[in-house]
Amino acid sequence: MDDFQLLVDLHRDAERQGPGGEAETRLSIALSGLSAAKNLRIADIGCGSGASTLVLAKHLEAQITAVDFIPDFLAKLEVEAARAGLAGRIRALAGSMEALPFGEAELDAIWSEGAIYNMGFEAGVAAWRKHLKPGGILAVSELTWLTRERPAELQAHWQREYSEIDTASGKLAILEKHGFSPLGYFVLPERCWLDNYYGPMEQRFASFLEAHGNSDAAFALVEAERHEVSLYERYKAFVGYGYYVARKVAG
Ligand code: SAH
Repeated sequence: MDDFQLLVDLHRDAERQGPGGEAETRLSIALSGLSAAKNLRIADIGCGSGASTLVLAKHLEAQITAVDFIPDFLAKLEVEAARAGLAGRIRALAGSMEALPFGEAELDAIWSEGAIYNMGFEAGVAAWRKHLKPGGILAVSELTWLTRERPAELQAHWQREYSEIDTASGKLAILEKHGFSPLGYFVLPERCWLDNYYGPMEQRFASFLEAHGNSDAAFALVEAERHEVSLYERYKAFVGYGYYVARKVAG
């Protein structure tokens, strides 16, 4: 099994594949101003198994297209959507966030939690904008420096893993540069990382290693994840996920 398939295997049965939380998705909905809107068309990009998709479907009157390039994650979303009685509002679509199958000005909103980094924040913001109607909403969470200065070990790690990591003011400037007007920004609280993401993942390590016959590759993946958890635990005052909600400026 290659490294990518191992990664899918470690995260397939999880409720979410990145930091987040129901209350935080609801807060982004409140900031979007769409709570009372009708007949919305929304995309949830890099939805994984759909933790955010389910919250959007529950709290907005919308048809939601949930896009991810890993069919295993979408299959779990479809099961959960049916279980929650939300299947009629959600369409799961296997595809790349770099070639979205939407037309111009087709969507009222795009949500994307913990996923835009895969194509890069700026490239994603720039490319996805055309699919939004004028005044449409972009709501994304993105790895963010919480302070101007940070410890060298942390800086080196994230600079290597994701060179676009920046402070909130840097991310807001990118949004403005690409024709968005920021409506709100907040930081995901610790429990979104520790209780909702890292904790459940750590509980899966033993069965994951066993399922893969304790292979070197499986161990290496678990070690890399453990390292990331330890960095977060030690340095959470300096790094987190920022949630950015912005409106497309007409023109
Ligand atoms: N939004 C989910 C998943 C976040 S993890 C959550 O918060 O739980 C990032 C997701 O992006 C993964 O599900 C991964 O499969 C997806 N992804 C990564 N690169 C992608 C690409 N190029 N196109 C579509 N999806 C991608």
